[in-house]
Parts: sequence; structure tokens; C-alpha cells
Amino acid sequence: MKYTVDIQGMHCAACVHAVESSLADIPDVTDVSVSLVLHSATVTINDTRSSLVNELTKAVEDAGYSALGVRQEDTATTAASFARIDEDVSTLQRKVRVAVPLAFLTMAVSMILMFEPFTSQIDHTIANIFLITATTPVLWQGREFFRTALRAARQRTAVMDTLVTVGTSAAYLYSIVVIILHSLDTIPLSVHHHVGMYLDSAAMIVALVLFGRWLEARARTKTTDALRSLVSMRPTTARRQLHGSVDVVQLDDVRIGDQLVVLPGESIPTDGTVTSGTSDVNQSMLTGEALPVSKSPGDRVVGGTLNIDAVLTISVDRIGADTVLSQIVRRVEQAQQGKTAIQHLADRISAVFVPIVLAIAITTFIVWLLFDQSPQSIEHAITTSISVLIIACPCALGLAVPTAIVVGTGRAAQAGILFAAPSAVERLAEVTTVLFDKTGTLTEGRFEVSDIVADGPINEEDWAAIATVQSRSNHPIAVAMAQYARQKADVWTDADVTVQTVVGAGVEAVIHRPGHNKALRVRIGNPALLERSMLIVDQGTIAALEHFSQTGATAVIVNMNAVTRCVVALRDVVRPEAAEVVADLTRQGISSAIVSGDRTSTVQRLGQTLGIEESYGEISPGGKADLVDQLRQQQRRVAFVGDGVNDAPALASADVGIAMASGTDVAISTADVTLLRSDLHSVLAAISISRSTVTTIRRNLFFAFFYNVAAIPLAAGIFYPSYGLLLSPIVAAAAMALSSLTVVLTSLSLYRTRLS
Ligand code: ADP
Ligand code: MG
Repeated sequence: MKYTVDIQGMHCAACVHAVESSLADIPDVTDVSVSLVLHSATVTINDTRSSLVNELTKAVEDAGYSALGVRQEDTATTAASFARIDEDVSTLQRKVRVAVPLAFLTMAVSMILMFEPFTSQIDHTIANIFLITATTPVLWQGREFFRTALRAARQRTAVMDTLVTVGTSAAYLYSIVVIILHSLDTIPLSVHHHVGMYLDSAAMIVALVLFGRWLEARARTKTTDALRSLVSMRPTTARRQLHGSVDVVQLDDVRIGDQLVVLPGESIPTDGTVTSGTSDVNQSMLTGEALPVSKSPGDRVVGGTLNIDAVLTISVDRIGADTVLSQIVRRVEQAQQGKTAIQHLADRISAVFVPIVLAIAITTFIVWLLFDQSPQSIEHAITTSISVLIIACPCALGLAVPTAIVVGTGRAAQAGILFAAPSAVERLAEVTTVLFDKTGTLTEGRFEVSDIVADGPINEEDWAAIATVQSRSNHPIAVAMAQYARQKADVWTDADVTVQTVVGAGVEAVIHRPGHNKALRVRIGNPALLERSMLIVDQGTIAALEHFSQTGATAVIVNMNAVTRCVVALRDVVRPEAAEVVADLTRQGISSAIVSGDRTSTVQRLGQTLGIEESYGEISPGGKADLVDQLRQQQRRVAFVGDGVNDAPALASADVGIAMASGTDVAISTADVTLLRSDLHSVLAAISISRSTVTTIRRNLFFAFFYNVAAIPLAAGIFYPSYGLLLSPIVAAAAMALSSLTVVLTSLSLYRTRLS
């Protein structure tokens, strides 16, 4: 059972880590994945006990966050998550509107107080009271940080908000103490500074952190744009035809088998089959395919696509969660929720990062107190340790990977490329060899019978048998042969037929006809099919097969009651873009290979025409998986591209399995990557989006991590002795906000990746 928990208050990788480990501690939980971008956790639990919702809520609260609701995955309304993300943005905006002006006011007043003649003329008690009354509400806007830090402290952990909390409360409390001591005349006024000097730092830090989070949250909502537009494609109403009249009904009331009328210019409400009308349908919103597809009675249409020019009536095949669009949405959500290997690394780093930074800040403080002989040693100690705390916040670190993944997979989805998990993006970027399946992948899989070779005449009964058997199979070869045979003879509709498909070899059928007491055993396929029944393939047949193979055709044997009747040659159309795609891959340093169950010479020939040197023929579907394993053992990273129908084992054993949807019937496979367009350019596009996503992730991690780490010594004041350089806590806060924002903006630029 899968549950989704909506969570409020998570801001960083350390938050994600805290929530994750708390949820993972619930008994029977097998998998937890927390998304910082979608503000939710997906939890897989091996149990259905009624207390689960409470347990999940409690686990999230124990970690220091609020659980806004728990829902079962399939009833999930993504729209609800979007509403929550938007609300987060407006809450932050309200806080920023209060905090930023007040913080600037405190900074202005503090600065004025530092200069003569103001220092001696202004009444410091009044100034201090003013500063305290202006700073306190700013900190109140940041109460969420303090609350999170406190909850974490109770769990004996430190999260990013711990750093902000320690930094600001140190500044605030130190200032208050000094003000009180000063007013009691216990300490004299420092020569350079006004006593309330750290109040403005506290206010500015909170204001800047809030401001940074607001900007970042706003930019982050954009990362989900691709998913939002998919969700918004779901129509909400349909025109239902019932007893001769047509009524507009809610889509939720539509049932399988209902007849729906779709007017030109309207979206098709749900998946169905055309029962009347012929019209062009624009499927680009789903598949990214530019050209409209003509649909006529008997054709499948997909919900969410646009009917262009005529009225269509469709019979509903699938509704709700079963529709292609819902499956696409779910697939995209899935791709955005899981974790990449590099994300796991980033998580581990940020989990130890916060305590390390706390230790560095404390060390900085002590070193300054001990070794600085100047009268401002305490001020230096405070400035530097606060700057260290603030600049080292690993906020950007938590955003580096997920924002890139969400934008990258969203961009891919717009082009009809669906990743099953974020790790698939990472693996695809590293691929060195693309192994293409032949039929239906490099070729269109639309065969046509071109030649027939037989010793004697082929009679009507043979054609009828071929038509009867092959019309029961949907293999592209069978479809072509059935169509051809039906022109010569009629299908035996009254016969009792059992057909067995031998994957990668052919079909074997037993036909009982009324009025015939002897059954007819028909075998159609390659030599392997006959050999498995211990039948001998004679020299003449082999010669015929070899002859056709040399010309690039696919030839199959037709055998009736153990006697070979003829060899049928079929030709398939090579996809026009295949050679270009192979050349492009080569240019990128990726080698191509081709594999097929077809005869070796046919496969080699196709390889030659496409510029592929490596080809493997006569390989069964299971053998394809073994081949993939062999290639992987040669240290190659293999992507297998297949049609997803009989290539499941190879798709599963490859580093990345890429399934091409067949023709216009959009189907989502379980492969790592599903290509909704039946165009090989999508393979290139998938590789290029995954490469740019990975590059963006690396760049983000650099901004987030090395930048923060590099700034720590500067913040700690190591350049002060030689250059007099100190980083003010205010600059540190601005730099931190900037680093998060940079990360989000770099990720957003992925939307502009060119994919062809
Ligand atoms: P590919 O590996 O190119 O995708 P398949 O594994 O689907 O091809 O099929 C391999 C071979 O098995 C075909 O070339 C053909 O000889 C034979 N075959 C499979 N199914 C059938 C069928 N229904 N009718 C005739 N031959 C078939
Ligand atoms: Mg195939």
C-alpha cells in the first residue's frame, strides 16, 4: 500500500533526511521517498492497519514538521499538491512584506548611530528601545525556523534552521544583554560601535533568509510547470450520447462503453475507440509529435488530445486512473519523487554538514576570543561565528538535485519522453552503447509480402489456413501475412483453432474443421520453429531463406502437417530517420548495435545500410537479455531500445531500457524510459535531456556546496589579520540566499534545452 503525506515546513536536505528517517522507523514501512520540491513523502507500507494515518502524521510531527494530510496514492490529486505549493509561496510573501522593510529600518538606524554627530547626540536608550521593538517582529516572522530548530534539537539532531536559529538568537540575545548592562552603567560604550549593533544583523539575517526562500519558492513552483500543464489537460466534462440525445455530463460520471460526441476544436475527454466520423487529431500535447493523426472508425483515441476538424463519436474504453493521460501524470510524478545516486550522496553530506558547521562556528568563536588581543575581540568573535553559521547553510544543497530532476523530467515529458525514475536520467547520461531491436524499432514493423517461393502450386486451402492462423497473432509479420492471405481465401470462421506463439520463432497451430476428421497442424516461422519439433529443414528451403536474407528481406517458412509448403518473403520499411540517428550517436561517442530474431544475414545487411558495424541475428528474446549482459561485462553501459512488446527481458537487463510506443497507439511500458513518439529522434532527445540534467546537477552541487565551503574560511575571518577583511553576517545571509536562488534558476534553464 502506498501513501502520500503532504508536509509543511521542509526547506532543505537535512529536513528531508529528518522526515525520511522518522517515517522509515514506522513498522512495516518498506520504502520512503520525500520530495522537497513537491513537499510530500511517498511511503510504501506492507500493512493496512487502521492506525496508519495517525502513525504517519505523528512521525512527520516528531521530525519537526506539520503533516497536512495523508492520502492513498491512487486517489492522489496532484492539483491539491499544487495548491499547497502555491499557498507556501503566499505565506512567505506575507512574511517578507513585514520583515524586509523593518529589517532595513533597523539597519539604517544602527548605521546612523555609528557616526558623529549622531553617536553623541541621540539618546541611546530611546534608540535601543526602538531597535528592540523593530527587530522583535522581524524575528517573529521567522518563528518557523526557531520552531523547526527546537523540534530538531529535541530529537538531538541539527537541521539547517538550527544554523539560522543559533546565528540570529546569538546576535539578538548578545545585543539585549549588552544593552541592559550598558543601561546599568556596568560597561562603557564601545568606541566604534553602538551597543545594539547586532540587532540589525539578527533582523537582516531573518529578513534575507525569508526573502531568499520566497524567491526560491516562487521559482520552484515553475519547476512543476510541465506537470501542471499535463494535469490541466484533463477535460472535466464530456458530451454523452444516450437514447438519441446528447447531454453534457461530468467526466466522473462517464462509464466504460458510453458513447461520447466530440466536436471539432474540443479535447477528447477520455480514452476510447472511434465509432463514427473521421477527423484529424492533434496528439502533440501527449507525444510531442507535431503532425496530426487521422482517426476513423475502429481507431483508438487518447483522452486529452485535440480533435481538429470534424465531429467524432467514440466509445469509452478507459476512465479515471487507467487512462493514458493519468498514467503519464503518474509516471512523471514518480520520476520526480525518487532519488538519484548523487542525491543520496548530497543527503549524506548535508546530514553531517550541519553539526560540522556548528563545530566550526564554535571553534571560530573561541579562537577569536583567545587570540585576538584587540578591544573588539568579543565583537569579532561574534561576527565571524555568526557569519560562518549563516553562510554555510546547506539550503542550496538540498535543492541542487531535485530541482534539476523535476525540470529535466518535466521538459522530457513535454517531448513525449517519460522517465520511470530519476536514477534512469542519471544512467542514460552515461550510456556508451545503444543496442537497437530491429523489427518495429529500427524498422516501422509494417511488413508487406513481397515474394513467395514454393515447389508446387499453393492452393486455396493453404491460404485459408495461413489467414486463419495469422489473423490470431498481432506480430507485424502475422498481420502482413493475414492481410495478404485473406485476399486469396476466406478465414475459416467455423473452425476450432488453438494457436501457440513461440516467441522469437513463430506460431504453431492446430485446426479442427467441421467435416474433417483429421486435424491440420500449421507451423509458420523461422527454422528454429521447425527444429524445436524435430522437423528437418531441407536444403532448398535454406537456400531460399538465404537468398531473401541477402536482399534484406525477412523470410518465413510455412509448414503444414510437417511438410514445408512455401517460403514467404516480407519487406519492412526502415525508419527514414534511422541512419541519421545512428550517425548522430556516433558523433557523440556512443556506439550503436542491432539485434534481432531475424536471420543473421538480414540483420547484417540492415546494419550495413545504417552504418552499424555490430549486429546480432537469430537471437531469441531471452538471448537478447543475455547479449545485453555480455555487452555490460565488457564495461559498456548499454541502453536497449525495443518496442516493449516481446523485448521485456532485454529492456530489464539493460542499464537503461527504452521502450518505443508502437505507432499512434500510445502505451506506457514498464521500461526505464518510454518514448511516446514513434520516432527514433526521441532516443537522441532522451540522451541529450539526461546529459544536460546531469550537467545541471553537477553545476548546482558546485554552487551549493563548494561555494559554501569556500566561503567558510572567509567568514571565519582568516583574511582579517593580513587584509583586515571580515564578512558581515548580513552579507553572509545575502550570499546564502543568492546561492539557493542560483541553483533554482540554473535548473529552470533546463526548460530551454533544445531537443533535436
Ligand atoms: P525481432 O527480434 O526483429 O523483433 P521477433 O523476435 O519478433 O523479431 O521475431 C523473430 C523471428 O521469429 C521473425 O523474424 C520471424 O522469423 C519469426 N516469427 C515470430 N513471430 C512470427 C509469426 N507470427 N509469424 C511468422 N514468423 C514469426
Ligand atoms: Mg521486436
